[in-house]
Amino acid sequence: MRRRRAGQNCPMPAAAKSSPPEKPAAAPAPAPGAGLSPVQRALRKLGLLRDIDFALYLPMRYEDETRIVRLADTRDGDTAQIEAVVRDSEVVFRPRRQLIVTVDDGSDACQLRFFNFYPSQQKQLAVGARVRVRGEVRGGFLGRQMMHPTVKAAATELPQALTPVYSTIAGLAQPVLRREVRSGLARAVLDETVPHGLAPRDAWELRRALHFLHYPAPDVAIATLEDHSHPAWQRLKADELLAQQLSQLQARRARAAQRAPVLSVAASGDSLHRELLAALPFALTGAQQRVGEEITRDLARDIPMHRLLQGDVGSGKTVVAALAAARCIDAGFQCALMAPTEILAAQHFGKLVGWLDPLLAERGLRVAWLTGSQKKKERDAMSAAVENGEAALVIGTHAVISEKVRFSKLALAIIDEQHRFGVAQRLALRGKAVGELEPHLLMMSATPIPRTLAMSYYADLDVSTLDELPPGRTPIVTKLVADHRRDEVIDRIRAQLAQGRQVYWVCPLIEESEAVDLRNATETRDELAAALGAQVSVGLLHSRMPTAEKQAVMESFTANRLQVLVSTTVIEVGVDVPNASLMVIEHAERFGLSQLHQLRGRVGRGAAASACVLLYAPNEGGRVGEAARARLKAMAETSDGFEIARRDLEIRGPGEFLGARQSGAPLLRFADLSTDVLLLDWARALAPRMLDRHPELAARHVDRWLGSKAEYLKA
Ligand code: ADP
Ligand code: MG
Repeated sequence: MRRRRAGQNCPMPAAAKSSPPEKPAAAPAPAPGAGLSPVQRALRKLGLLRDIDFALYLPMRYEDETRIVRLADTRDGDTAQIEAVVRDSEVVFRPRRQLIVTVDDGSDACQLRFFNFYPSQQKQLAVGARVRVRGEVRGGFLGRQMMHPTVKAAATELPQALTPVYSTIAGLAQPVLRREVRSGLARAVLDETVPHGLAPRDAWELRRALHFLHYPAPDVAIATLEDHSHPAWQRLKADELLAQQLSQLQARRARAAQRAPVLSVAASGDSLHRELLAALPFALTGAQQRVGEEITRDLARDIPMHRLLQGDVGSGKTVVAALAAARCIDAGFQCALMAPTEILAAQHFGKLVGWLDPLLAERGLRVAWLTGSQKKKERDAMSAAVENGEAALVIGTHAVISEKVRFSKLALAIIDEQHRFGVAQRLALRGKAVGELEPHLLMMSATPIPRTLAMSYYADLDVSTLDELPPGRTPIVTKLVADHRRDEVIDRIRAQLAQGRQVYWVCPLIEESEAVDLRNATETRDELAAALGAQVSVGLLHSRMPTAEKQAVMESFTANRLQVLVSTTVIEVGVDVPNASLMVIEHAERFGLSQLHQLRGRVGRGAAASACVLLYAPNEGGRVGEAARARLKAMAETSDGFEIARRDLEIRGPGEFLGARQSGAPLLRFADLSTDVLLLDWARALAPRMLDRHPELAARHVDRWLGSKAEYLKA
């Protein structure tokens, strides 16, 4: 997965450098951006480079310019095209400078108003001229009117097809874009790449589908174009999904050609893995066992593992990671574990050190700790241990992948909360390979990916799922409470504290400014401290605090020296304090659904009955926005991470759900996984067959759709 780029929504990103077989369109373009006209630059911004890019740039909607209607037949609000004679034309200056033209088509008259106009337009609209006018008809008191209609000479022929309207950007006028698309489409090579007889049933040919979608016949049912159900759209969506499947399958096969260290299990003797299992204070769940075996099998192969471990918050991913690390160390190699925040990394460190350090010490090995905030001296010592191989396990933040850190024999990289890392960082970690051998990669995520999304965007990964929580967890009760009932919430906190439990209070990110957030969080802390009395210690955790201070606060909370922890969302991921039984989230309406679910997962980790209170503040209108309401409702109704993910996808759509980060698979522009499952199945079935039997066609198909984006596959 080298040199992947994060996907973009429509349109495709411009090629940075590649030598696509498709000919570049208008601009042969040597250095990117250099010597381009403003139009070329704008086109490039839209990702329009090659003829095929233009051909695949489909209209957002259409205008019907194929018919002339009679003014008398139009109703208020209609968009209409008329042909009429100019009766009157004048420029008035009140209330501001404007051109007012009266036209008459024999059935009725209509006033045209222009606030911005050129002398050429004035000339075109001279009294007596016959013109074709298109715009929205307003039937006001003073008769019919059109604001800023488009005007052409009446003599031109009527088009035979609907007129496409493309999504455009500043600096690129619609007519220019139309012209460029028309010529790109005319030049593009549109031969079939789907092998003969293997296209979806009744599929249109690509050439026909594209011509139709750019210039549909006027009698088409517009709704079928708008909802993409038209056969022409079906063909485009099928091809797009096929390209996605092909490129990911290629990536998978390319990886199969790489070599990784074989981390196989010693059949007998003491193994760290076995000792760790024995030392754990609990038995593994069935799911942990199953997933552990899946990982073990992968590690025993000489092909790099590329596995996503997904499991709801609290499902016990850390142990699975530790066991994988043990396998790696048993085979005589090093393992790196990277977490997105220092707090989380510290938690892992604490836990894994507790589990592993005694066992490692017997072997003359140790766990190393690397973060950005570390003192240079300590860091140098740690780096040295990593370099000479004494540190069998290296835990930390991004610092783990900094250039200065050299592993002596890295064989397994584990990334926790993988969605918080960019592709570049993941690559850097893998780039720590030793010699020719790629490290195995295990990515962990607490945001389950709905099945169709996984099949589509993660087709190049193997996915393991922890679908079972450790026993003895009591379900978390979730309550929605309006902000003015804060007092009741404080009573609830008192009740939990009286039972010796601990409480999280999460303040939202309100402003872009951390200073304001800090002030808010500080006020909340003071308010709670005053309300709860002197015998209760209330702590504060904020992203602005120095790391050492953050860690000290976290440690105090873990040790129950603090009973209440007020924090901004820095506790979002992974924090594990089983004695905490109540979580209050302030301004819950401002959080994303996955984020709320993650936060809620910080409680319910022990045996105590736990609750999550979502405080929400209606806006001035006394209401909560629709999306926010859907999020809160989902939280109240379910605590199943998969269901939450499904609803989150529904609310946000795949682009935002996946975020900018993702596995690198480009986002789909046309296909919609909620409606196009059959096409996805078709693409999934065809992709391997095509790569085996029609590799030429497959390569051309991927190039056509993904162009330079598929470049990483060659690396
Ligand atoms: P997450 O998947 O959210 O990262 P953790 O790995 O932090 O979850 O585990 C959550 C809690 O459950 C931890 O306290 C962990 O020690 C505990 N745990 C993990 N596996 C088991 C198990 N099989 N039985 C009991 N407790 C477990
Ligand atoms: Mg975790």
